[in-house]
Amino acid sequence: MGDRLNDIAFAAVLLNDNVYFRLSLSVGEKGQPPSDTGILLPPEKCLPVLAALADVYLAYSHHTTSKRRPRLRELLNTLGCENYLQEVEQHLPFSLLYTEIRKDLTPQPPSLVGKGEKYQHIGIHPQRQQGLFYIGVVLPLGRLESRQMRGLADLAAKYGSGTLRLTPWQNLLLTDIPQQWVADVQSEIALLELDSSANNIKGGLVACSGKKGCAASATDTKSHALALAEYLKTRVTLDYPVNIHFTGCEKSCAQHSKSDITLLGVTIEAENRTVEGYHVYVGDSNQKFGRELYQYVTFAELPALIGRMLYVYKIQRLNSNESFGEFANRFALEQLQQLFNIIPQSIANKKIPNFLEKSAI
Ligand code: SF4
Repeated sequence: MGDRLNDIAFAAVLLNDNVYFRLSLSVGEKGQPPSDTGILLPPEKCLPVLAALADVYLAYSHHTTSKRRPRLRELLNTLGCENYLQEVEQHLPFSLLYTEIRKDLTPQPPSLVGKGEKYQHIGIHPQRQQGLFYIGVVLPLGRLESRQMRGLADLAAKYGSGTLRLTPWQNLLLTDIPQQWVADVQSEIALLELDSSANNIKGGLVACSGKKGCAASATDTKSHALALAEYLKTRVTLDYPVNIHFTGCEKSCAQHSKSDITLLGVTIEAENRTVEGYHVYVGDSNQKFGRELYQYVTFAELPALIGRMLYVYKIQRLNSNESFGEFANRFALEQLQQLFNIIPQSIANKKIPNFLEKSAI
């Protein structure tokens, strides 16, 4: 929930062996995760409630005089959450009963996923159900060929429960695989030219459609991300997932949550020509993408810079569970720049030392 900045969210909880959904709504400041309303809904009531929430929103947003329709968050801030929900209730044939539930039945909010844990679904993992496993498959930047999709669907039907799950980080899970078939499924995944190894750099690599698919993009994000992965493949071995997010503009379509490293596409004027490049952000801050570590790094300089950053992270982190973002948060920007000890050419106009000889890493 913490990094899913939706206007309306239903989060599953188990209560007395029954599944319910907690309703959360976006209120308050922009960029905050949705707030728990205290309302618990059985699954069959979620759709009618969603429709009623939308009806009330439409009724109010139609009357606006401004050119832009307000977001649900803005409407909730104006009307107040309680008033809004009372109106929603009038559109429903049942009561929302949230005050009673809030007083006695509400279980603890679902725990937030720990940093880094969210990418650790790649590879083989035991399920809660005895004897069953799920396998997280890396989809390079969320792209699959149709023969691979059909192959995965066949594997799900033959060995699992016939379902495939998608993750917000552009990867895929094959679930409910009995233990005795896990090795076979892994081999068949490899035959589809897909990878399920947990240390694959592409497991945490996310990119929006970029210049090839979006007029707003300053850079060819997907090609750059793949080129970066190719560069890093033989130079840095990761044992902990690092989430690197390429975005062609500030809208950040591919990943709304913070990442360990965010690369925001920009164009750079250099020597009478325009080249593609990135601003580099790391870790957490009040800014949308984290703290800005470097500006206007040309794409030609980027792979060596990221390689150096990952290398320094690996040797300087507190322990093997410290994520790149947590590592970066421990240092001031100047300290990080000193640690990475590489100043992009576009800033310093200097020759970049070749830190990334394969043997050095
Ligand atoms: S983030 Fe920007 S550039 Fe990328 S797909 Fe969205 S609108 Fe286009």
